[in-house]
Amino acid sequence: MLVSDILKAKGSDVVSAASAISVADAAKLLAEKRIGSVLILDGKRIAGILSERDIVRTLAAEGPSCLDGPVQRIMTAKVITCRPDQTISEVMEMMTRHRFRHVPVVEDGAVAGMVSIGDVVKWRLEEAQEEVRQMAAYVSGT
Ligand code: AMP
Repeated sequence: MLVSDILKAKGSDVVSAASAISVADAAKLLAEKRIGSVLILDGKRIAGILSERDIVRTLAAEGPSCLDGPVQRIMTAKVITCRPDQTISEVMEMMTRHRFRHVPVVEDGAVAGMVSIGDVVKWRLEEAQEEVRQMAAYVSGT
């Protein structure tokens, strides 16, 4: 199963924002869209990724004054991405190794989608259920 299979089902829309928006506005965006991270774009170039965890961590360290500052100050600038032709297992391995739950998909230098840990778990579960169905059919000879 490939990353492109996930994108076929969920589409290639990615919620993004500019690095100048405030942390408060980014928090509103995450809440409105019911997502855990927003990709920060500088035009079409990936400038960073901001997760709800970055906001919580900075709030705990600095207090509410951080909400007025730009997301650029608290985002992760070095973003790890994947390609549509990579397997879902590879992306799971990336998420486990780096301890994050979001991986932007990049194809030919352009953002082509976002894969979250929720997507990965859903697809792995369906794959496992299909394996069980096939095993049961094999054992029963149907
Ligand atoms: P998450 O678990 O995805 O909410 O993010 C945990 C931490 O990893 C946060 O500091 C994020 O900014 C960072 N992060 C999330 N996704 C990525 C990614 N694809 N590449 C690099 N850092 C990331």
